Amino acid sequence: MQEYRSKLDARADELAPICVHAGDERDGWGGLETPLVLSNAFGFEDADHAAAAFRGQNNAYIYGRWGNPTVRALEHKLAALEGAAACCATASGMAAISGVIMSACESGDHVVAPRSMYAESARLLRERLPRFGITTSFVDADTASYEAAITERTRVLYIETPSNPVLRVTDIAGVVALSRARGLLTIADNTFATPFAQSPLALGVDVVVHSMTKALGGHGDAIGGAICGSTEHVERSADLVVKGFGGVLAPFTAWLISRGLRTFHLRQRQACLSAAELARALSERSDVARVHHPSLRSHPQHALASAQMRAFGSMLSFELAPRGELSAIERGKRALSAIKTITHAVSLGDVRSLLVHPASTTHSTMPGPDRLAADVSDGLLRLSVGVEGTQALLADLERALG
Ligand SMILES: *Cc1c(COP(=O)(O)O)cnc(C)c1O
Repeated sequence: MQEYRSKLDARADELAPICVHAGDERDGWGGLETPLVLSNAFGFEDADHAAAAFRGQNNAYIYGRWGNPTVRALEHKLAALEGAAACCATASGMAAISGVIMSACESGDHVVAPRSMYAESARLLRERLPRFGITTSFVDADTASYEAAITERTRVLYIETPSNPVLRVTDIAGVVALSRARGLLTIADNTFATPFAQSPLALGVDVVVHSMTKALGGHGDAIGGAICGSTEHVERSADLVVKGFGGVLAPFTAWLISRGLRTFHLRQRQACLSAAELARALSERSDVARVHHPSLRSHPQHALASAQMRAFGSMLSFELAPRGELSAIERGKRALSAIKTITHAVSLGDVRSLLVHPASTTHSTMPGPDRLAADVSDGLLRLSVGVEGTQALLADLERALG
């Protein structure tokens, strides 16, 4: 664990200048904090200035849906964190995901996506986009399965790794190689891993999407999303999702997320460390049937995760074993009512640790067989590790399971 701790420290140090300073703008009084600009229209200097602004010949702000300085500051910070040329903030993670896919695909196009993915993204691809002629094949998220699903009409290979909720790991470079050989677009949802733990663009992915609602904002008080990648990809998606569909991020929300990002490296260092320590402690208990976390040597893709990820992330899940008279589900319910330091709630990436029972909540809209295919067994509990510290979290879990 000492070695992992040093690795996390090094990654936190690397990101610190970006988290604290990148994208910052001072206001007209020299105030240090990036100003919260609420104006939805911006005045022109004269007729020529206005005409040039409309031709895109200066960087003047015109109208809030087309650009805002507070939102722009956040976009610069996140682009730096993801190592992206450009970034576009959106009203939510789903606005980013739907916008990127709809700007990449036309009617008749086909997407390959993992069976085990964020439930609303799965619903978008399975139920909503087919109405517009965009269809999806859902696959086990290994390279061979992606390859086997590619057809003449395939346009997008969509990755979500580690997967929700059992932390399966997809070989990003492997899927990118398939895309490159065929001129397809690779899109990766990096919400679960975060840019602290994984840099998909550096591995060749074309577009990264985020729910900034989660670890980027990190304080449970903002809903937002983002699209990161080359200027060309980001501008095309932004044109559709922000200008066209109106999925614009509110300035105050952008300001909150920027403030959250100032401590992102510190929060992630602590959360990733606690997650690995808790995963190890849980895996040593005889009344826990299985623990899913890529840091564990028992994880089927531990080697791949070690090579591809900068850290193993702050999400873990576990399956309780039945004990005495109590079934695994009954034990899970009791644990959820007994926790005190840990909070029983959906969402993830918060400073608070959040425990949830996916089968009855986040994945409840999935038909039963789809749910099992997406690795959500009845007794599975998912833990998003916060920054309360390993001791307090472990004591809470041990008491709740005992
Ligand atoms: C939460 C989440 C989303 C959706 O984000 P919203 O901000 O809620 O729209 C997408 N993908 C993943 C992995 C998520 O956790």
